[in-house]
Amino acid sequence: MSRSVVQSLLAKQEFDEVDMARRFAEEYKKEPNRGYGMGVVTVFKKLLSPKCSDVFEPARAQFNGKGSYGNGGAMRVAGISLVYSDIQDVKKFAKLSAELTHSNSLGYNGAILQALAVHLALQGELSRESFLEQLIGHMEDVEADDKSLADARALGFEDLPFSRRLKKIKEFLELSTVPKSDVLYELGNGVAALRSVPTAIYSFLRSMGSDPDIPDHYNNLQRAIIYCISLGGDTDTIATMAGAIAGAYYGEEQESEPPDGFTRWGSLFKKNNKPETLDGKRHKCGSSEKRKKYQHEHLFPETETLRASCP
Ligand SMILES: [Mg+2]
Repeated sequence: MSRSVVQSLLAKQEFDEVDMARRFAEEYKKEPNRGYGMGVVTVFKKLLSPKCSDVFEPARAQFNGKGSYGNGGAMRVAGISLVYSDIQDVKKFAKLSAELTHSNSLGYNGAILQALAVHLALQGELSRESFLEQLIGHMEDVEADDKSLADARALGFEDLPFSRRLKKIKEFLELSTVPKSDVLYELGNGVAALRSVPTAIYSFLRSMGSDPDIPDHYNNLQRAIIYCISLGGDTDTIATMAGAIAGAYYGEEQESEPPDGFTRWGSLFKKNNKPETLDGKRHKCGSSEKRKKYQHEHLFPETETLRASCP
């Protein structure tokens, strides 16, 4: 699904909901037994129907109209932050890309939060405090609309639930140690976006420092992923999100060699001299030259190279 997001943006050179929805559904059709939830399978089947005229409708109809609040929209969203540099665009297209399968605000707001985290990570050297302050400021705005308030209340959550969990992360980071049981209780390790996106962000931020339980030869990105896995639960999704944020922050130099048969994500892209995003603007990068190089090399890759690498 992450690959479909990127391939759609590259092929259309802008966000195109019909093209992206078609790619999601066709990806499902190629490999239907990958463990998709039944709810989203219904969405994919409807999207594949020639009768489908509104690609957002199948997701809206899920769960008696309540929509999904799972973490799938957040897990696949990082490509949006790579190609749009304007933060309003990041929010807008993260939301739309998620709404193709997750129409509950607790689902698509999770995707917005993950996209914002990747966006801020791409900006370069930020302190943990500044990173969280900026995320909290944006999410308090994102979560203040009527639908977000109504969806949270309908599910028994307090108002502004993502923002509150970001504040909890701030408290955790001020402590010398935090028991994993507290992390699981406050942030979670589940399949709901609310119980996994904040966990991924916490894992990224805490892994900026060392961890007595993880050997020093692992780098920051690897520590973020190892920590997510150590929490159990929906490990693949949470580690994927933490890895996307950490990868955006640290760059290619912290990526491991992939196992045999797998392709390094960065190598799917061909070097290109255009340091621009889809909206034609440059990302505001931090001081790390390596990070700038990584980011620029991964924008505007050649579509044909991508196709050749991803049959
Ligand atoms: Mg998962």
